[in-house]
This record gives sequence, C-alpha cells and structure tokens, in this order.
Amino acid sequence: MNEKYRKYALVELHLHLDGALSSKAIIEVAKKEGFDLPTFDEEELNKYLVVPKNCQSLNEYLEKFDIPNLALQTEFGLRTCTLDLLKRLSEDGIKYVEIRMAPQLSTQGKLTQEEVVIILINVLRMGEELYGIKSNLILCLMRGASKEKNLETIEVARRYLNHGVVLLDFAGAEALWPNDIYLDEFKIINGYNIPFTNHAGEALGAGSVKIALDNGAVRIGHGTHSYQDEEVMKYLIEHKIPLEMCPTSNIDTKAIKNYQEMPIKQYLDRGIIVTLSTDDPTVSNVTLKDEYAHLQNDMGLSDDDLHTIALNTINAARLSEEEKEQLRQILEKNL
Ligand SMILES: [Zn+2]
Repeated sequence: MNEKYRKYALVELHLHLDGALSSKAIIEVAKKEGFDLPTFDEEELNKYLVVPKNCQSLNEYLEKFDIPNLALQTEFGLRTCTLDLLKRLSEDGIKYVEIRMAPQLSTQGKLTQEEVVIILINVLRMGEELYGIKSNLILCLMRGASKEKNLETIEVARRYLNHGVVLLDFAGAEALWPNDIYLDEFKIINGYNIPFTNHAGEALGAGSVKIALDNGAVRIGHGTHSYQDEEVMKYLIEHKIPLEMCPTSNIDTKAIKNYQEMPIKQYLDRGIIVTLSTDDPTVSNVTLKDEYAHLQNDMGLSDDDLHTIALNTINAARLSEEEKEQLRQILEKNL
C-alpha cells in the first residue's frame, strides 16, 4: 500500500523508540527475560500497542508506551527491539532516522542513563552495518519527571553530543507539564550549547512554541498550532526553524480532528520549513510513506509540495552537508 510514495519517504526526524516497536520483538524479549505480557500472540499484542481511533487525549495515547518500555530495560532488550526497528525501516526505504528516546525510562533494571545511551549508540552503528540505514539519537527529557533525572539526561547528552547523540528534546504530556516550568533546564542546555528540539504546539497552543523559540529551539516537534500567533509564524519563517510534523499522530492525540485540519499547506505557502515524520509508527499504525499519501489524498498537496517536504526533511537532518547531499541525490534520482 502507498508504494508510490516510497520515493519521498527517505528520512524520519521524529520517531520515538518506544512508539515504534514490533510486537514480535517485544515477545522475543519477554520470553528471554521472563516478564509477563497480556498475550504472547503477535496479532493479539498489537491491540495493546496500537491506539484506538476513539482515543480521547494525548494522555490516553501516552498509556500505549507502558508495554514497549518493559522490553527496553536491558542490553538484550534495547538491542533486539532497536535492530528489529532499523531492519523494518530500512525495508521500507528509509535511509536516515533520528530515533528519540528518554534514557531515564530504561533505568528500571540495572542500567544507568549513560549505559542505555552507550548501548544504543553501538546498536545504531550495528544497524548501519547490517541494514545500511544511518541513524542518530535524540535524547528526551521527560515532562513531569524529577529534575534530577532530567539533569542527568542533559549531562549524558553533553558527553555524547556529536558522537551518536544529535539533539535533546522535551517529551511527554505538554498540557500537564508545559514549557514555562522548564526555563531552568533550557538555561542549562543553552549553557552547554546543546542544540534541542521541543514538543510544542501539539496539545497546547502557539504560546508553547513561543517559549521553545525564545529559549533557542533549533527545531519544533509538531508546532501544529503555531498559526495562532502571527509573531510565532514570522519567527519560524525568518529563522528557518523546521517543524517536525506528524499528521496521523496529531489526529490520534486529538491535537486536530482530521487530516483536513492539519495546517501543512498553509505553512508551506507561508514559507515555513515543514518536515514530515510518523512520531510513533506502531502506536499510530502508520508508516512514513502512508503519511506522504495522506498529504496528497487527504490534504490535497501536489507532487511539488511533497517533493519540497521530502527535501526539507533531508535538509533539517542533523547530518553533514556531504551526507545530506547524498540523500538529496537519492531523492532526485527516485523522482
Ligand atoms: Zn513525539
């Protein structure tokens, strides 16, 4: 399905590890490590991983991450689940992915945040050798977590920045723990010169995006409601800040009602750098080529618009100019 859109779907910039696991990998880890699951049948387990279409809110959506996180507590679990993900992405034609995850959510066993990150950096390199897909990590601070744990994540990011880690992020329930309570964390991150993206303007409005921009975000996760504030729109345009947009996830979390409500065309026409990702491909049961198909079939975007978005997504990647040029050549060759 949607094979026709595979040519655009080369780069994922916004993909959460725990929202992208297969039931097969989770079952394999559970069997080896002896933890319980509601079912050991792959298809049955999917019902616990995929969000129902009548999901009520971002908070209900976030409950879908409980089972995947059980499988991400050991070196074996992190390796099995992440390699399985990289294999599936590479089979889907993805050439580069920035995988984001909160290391503090994988410390329920014996691992420290730093050990989690070291394991994952090695696994990502392994994935490149095995499946030819390039990848980097984005480390997420968690909204609602203790300050101590988030500060530890910042320290780990500082140590591995440009050695497998490319950005920090703030993930979790934006409406419950909004950006304005993290001004201290923004200051520390900026003091270390760590570039960051920020989930903003998803559950909340443009005010949340404004705080992220005022504090120096280099990209915005979603930014769906940026149109509510003309000043925010102008800033995004003038400073060329890419938005990591994920339409299906926005519908699932009730950030928007349907694809037609997604302001992508409006943003493109204003000259905003719109990029496209899936957010949580397992939870939303969607692939990147499906998302490109939605742009055309449900939002009426032209082939040229899709090309622009695919190009924007490559250009917004945290890669060298040379690496981006290689991806641009693949895109042009595919078209
Ligand atoms: Zn996200």
